[in-house]
Amino acid sequence: MDLLYKSTRNGGAAVSASQAILKGLADDGGLFVPERIPKLDVGMAQLTTMSYQETAYEVMKLFLTDFTEAELKDCIRRAYDRKFDTAEIAPLKKRDGVYYLELFHGATIAFKDMALSILPHLLTASAKKNAVRNEIVILTATSGDTGKAALAGFADVPGTRIIVFYPKDGVSPVQEKQMVTQKGKNTYVIGIRGNFDDAQNGVKKMFNDRELAREMEAAGFQFSSANSINIGRLVPQVVYYLYAYTRLLAAGEIQEGEKINVTVPTGNFGNILAAYYAKQMGVPIQKLICASNENKVLYDFFTTGVYDRNRPFILTTSPSMDILISSNLERLIYKIAGEDAAKNRALMEALASDGRYGITEDMKERLADFAGGYASEAEVEREIKRVYEKTGYVLDTHTAVASAVYQKYRGESGDGAKTVIASTASPYKFTRSVMRAIDRKYDAMTDFELADELAKISKTDIPAAIEEIRTAPVLHDTVVEKDGMKAAVKKILGI
Ligand SMILES: *Cc1c(COP(=O)(O)O)cnc(C)c1O
Repeated sequence: MDLLYKSTRNGGAAVSASQAILKGLADDGGLFVPERIPKLDVGMAQLTTMSYQETAYEVMKLFLTDFTEAELKDCIRRAYDRKFDTAEIAPLKKRDGVYYLELFHGATIAFKDMALSILPHLLTASAKKNAVRNEIVILTATSGDTGKAALAGFADVPGTRIIVFYPKDGVSPVQEKQMVTQKGKNTYVIGIRGNFDDAQNGVKKMFNDRELAREMEAAGFQFSSANSINIGRLVPQVVYYLYAYTRLLAAGEIQEGEKINVTVPTGNFGNILAAYYAKQMGVPIQKLICASNENKVLYDFFTTGVYDRNRPFILTTSPSMDILISSNLERLIYKIAGEDAAKNRALMEALASDGRYGITEDMKERLADFAGGYASEAEVEREIKRVYEKTGYVLDTHTAVASAVYQKYRGESGDGAKTVIASTASPYKFTRSVMRAIDRKYDAMTDFELADELAKISKTDIPAAIEEIRTAPVLHDTVVEKDGMKAAVKKILGI
């Protein structure tokens, strides 16, 4: 029987996985969630011998039940290929007693590649399956990494166009350079004068704009989303938590059934939600440690039960986590509200109108799988330096947030379970902050000198993604006000 997807905001008709992928967001503004989380149907012993691609198939076939075996395997084969610089796809590195799950070996050297290298294939397969004739317009807001990974994934994919909005002053120099040099006839990159939440709100508004949808339809276009609200991004992210577990098992680091902790540097709550789904599928995970930077709205939520975005937006050295509205949290809220769509909708409406909501005691009790923590900018710097001096391994700023939060959690809780830290970006993406944390003497160097120096001190090769942008010409230079996003889209589409 097909696993169907329903909206978190109404009790209305459920849709197939391919329809949910095509739509991105439900018509009522809710997010699609599977009617149940499927259980793994192969044993751990067998999984330990499987490649990343084989593991991906075992997970994805359970969620995307209206795809044929041939379709799914084709999507997986095209996604996880030589674009990744290691055959392991997501290697696990043990350093100083913890396991860093390196999710940054894809084309754009951040973990977004894990899902965005497969999403275009899932989306075009979904379009075929549902006899969609319109050109699909991918509309995306980015805090830096999604944008480039989506552009790389969708560039020159027939039947699609991709438009990316990013906060002009809210991404790292490398992130910006990566985006504005993007090639591909169907790619558009636009800076906005505002922060990530402004970009995300603007995109959500366009998705919910009925009049715009009608104009698009008349011109032969329809929107879809490459943001982590799309279930087609969430499902591929479940894979690597299972894979990490089976690699630990294969290496003899854990016994079968032994519970591990997972620490995830969190922004939009997509990556950690995938870990939560992995746990429900049967991966033995004890605690999901949600790590925030100084924009610690999630830490406050987990400790008090109140989600409150009314606070200053802080620009940190981990920009991909500078977020005050974590969209995917809605999927967790819906779940702990007992899958009560009306209750969830009321909370989301309160968030939209007052910027805050509080959950009930019952709901709070259902959050026991999670622990929240945060790291200040000073703590992040100290963690990068500490790990480097102790092991020679260089963390990026986002991974360092998680690593610092884990160290504090471990100290405070005494919980000694083996722990996997999701390592979400290559240090080469955030060289300035990373090198500065190691030694202030690097402040005087240019970005590319810093990359050369990082290669020396970490004894790693400079990734192709960095070499590429050294000389690439800027191809996109449009900047608009935050209320000019819709006009920019209409101009691109000629409507
Ligand atoms: C996107 C991103 C995050 C946050 O992931 P979410 O799924 O949005 O919580 C963390 N680190 C890096 C490097 C990212 O690109």
